[in-house]
Amino acid sequence: MKGLAGLLLIAVAAAAADPIVIAHRGASGYLPEHTLAAYAMAYAQGADYLEPDLVLSADGHPVALHDLTLDAVSDVRYRFPDRARDDGQHFVVDFTLAELRQLRIHERIEPGTGEQRYPGRFPADRGSFGVVTLEELIELTKGLNAVTGRNVGIYPELKFNAFHEAAGHDFVAILMSVLDRYGYQGADARCIIQSFEPAPLLRLRDEFATELPLVQLLGENAWGMNDVDYDPMYTAEGLATIAGYADGIGPPISRILTGVDAEGRPVVSALVQDAKAAGLEVHPFTLRADALPDGVDFESLFELLLKVGIDGVFTDHPDRAVAVVQRLRQELDDAAQKASASP
Ligand code: CA
Repeated sequence: MKGLAGLLLIAVAAAAADPIVIAHRGASGYLPEHTLAAYAMAYAQGADYLEPDLVLSADGHPVALHDLTLDAVSDVRYRFPDRARDDGQHFVVDFTLAELRQLRIHERIEPGTGEQRYPGRFPADRGSFGVVTLEELIELTKGLNAVTGRNVGIYPELKFNAFHEAAGHDFVAILMSVLDRYGYQGADARCIIQSFEPAPLLRLRDEFATELPLVQLLGENAWGMNDVDYDPMYTAEGLATIAGYADGIGPPISRILTGVDAEGRPVVSALVQDAKAAGLEVHPFTLRADALPDGVDFESLFELLLKVGIDGVFTDHPDRAVAVVQRLRQELDDAAQKASASP
């Protein structure tokens, strides 16, 4: 009985130790986000999935960029000084792909001050990086898979669906046509689609009948990203509703580890447990080695999240997360060997 219990424990631990590492905007802790260099580095660091945020150009090409506007990550205000909207910002959807290709992409800055969002990262005044299309990211990933024999996936985020719809683009249909063309079909295609908006995910499931895994991202109403009400999504009922069309959720880490108690121990919410009960996987965002809560290191934070039961993590530092996963796997292998060696 003791042996069986031990094996069961190992089996449970093994399940928890097989999380996916999702390279958030590429290895964005090391190179400017959404650049081919950042994606190649993430691949080489052992990430399981490469994450592009996607928005559309004026001529309907999905490009890997996080914002609706170009001002924080490119030289657009110098290159196209008369193309800002009334609010002074340059919108991706106002530029053709040929125009976007003229931009120099750089490390994220605060457009008002020019200061880098993360001061220790790649210097914003260095490098000659360009805009990356979804097709280019796929070509890179599939090419590297052919060379290495690995099967690294992509994890595209369809951003601002309602905005693009209002601008006359059927983003869902555009995304699906690219993914179809590259053979991303079925639950095992190593392609997971995520969105903060339920509407495109519902269309993907119902109208497009896709079998690709879908992940509902959970935001905070205070972020003011869109008119989705996120509060109900964190309840057991809301999670059951999400499970009706999606395979997982992507919540902020702050909704899983909500603070520390009087003794300084982390307070864990019921979110992961409730999501599991609804049959949903949990891939929280964003683990950043250079933006951690006081007194917490990257490795401990990730291990704690794994203990809570997450199935994967979005991280700007894929190498650090991969190292943790590999160490835990090794520890499990060692424990399993010990268990099988004992009488
Ligand atoms: Ca994203």
